[in-house]
Amino acid sequence: MIRVSSISEFIYCPAKMYLKHTKDDNAQTQEMIAGKITQEIRRSYEEITKRNMWNIKENIDVDGIFNILFDEVPQFIENISNKHSRANKIDFEILNDLCNNLEEDLRLQSQLMALKIKGVLNNTNKRGIEISELFFPQSLLEFPLESEELNLRGIIDKVDIINGIYYPIETKTGIPPGNGVWLADALQIAAYAALIDYELNKEVLVGFVDYNKIAERRPVVINSILHNKLFEMLDSINEMLEKGKIPEFKIYKNKCKKCEYNEICDYAPKYA
Ligand code: SF4
Repeated sequence: MIRVSSISEFIYCPAKMYLKHTKDDNAQTQEMIAGKITQEIRRSYEEITKRNMWNIKENIDVDGIFNILFDEVPQFIENISNKHSRANKIDFEILNDLCNNLEEDLRLQSQLMALKIKGVLNNTNKRGIEISELFFPQSLLEFPLESEELNLRGIIDKVDIINGIYYPIETKTGIPPGNGVWLADALQIAAYAALIDYELNKEVLVGFVDYNKIAERRPVVINSILHNKLFEMLDSINEMLEKGKIPEFKIYKNKCKKCEYNEICDYAPKYA
């Protein structure tokens, strides 16, 4: 069954995706472990922030709100980092950089949230506990879905449910494009929309990508163009995996230099 995350791998390099699936489908790369740690930290951040929001009183200033939201964050990141450092499955430097970057992203996120919360408090004269639903609607975190019919499975970072409508949300740590979202991210949201539609019988018209580096949520409208592009790509991936036929693609030397498969890949330039 195709994983939704394979779509961005396929866009990055079809040969790499093919090798990953045929050579070591079960191997845990440093990238995959880092992804899991990122999810763990983000999930804890959401839980802690939601809980701490209840302590926000009516007349508090922006700095005070920020402190309430962010105070515990460095410590829980350190705890998670120590746990993974002891498990010894990820390179220490990668872990360290990952945790430092995430702490900075979450600091920025908390600062922006503090500003927004202050705006709402000023206009409503309510306390944090009373406006918590505005910032944290009912949601499903790391929600797994799979469909035999689509031959597709994935774990959605978050699904917000507002008035019975489902909004899949994917979190990204990289820099976004100037406008909109990257194609791979749009296709990932379209894939989640298809899974929600097929498995939960809920039509999804829009999803979102959270680009945490700039603390911005960008929409992805699920229109017929995106839908068709998704299914064309799934057909190509299925064909490649079933028949071993790798579609034509452009080779970028820089990608190959960094690629963990460059020694066994027939497409890799000799000097990679
Ligand atoms: S070495 Fe280059 S062409 Fe081969 S899988 Fe890696 S990125 Fe793709």
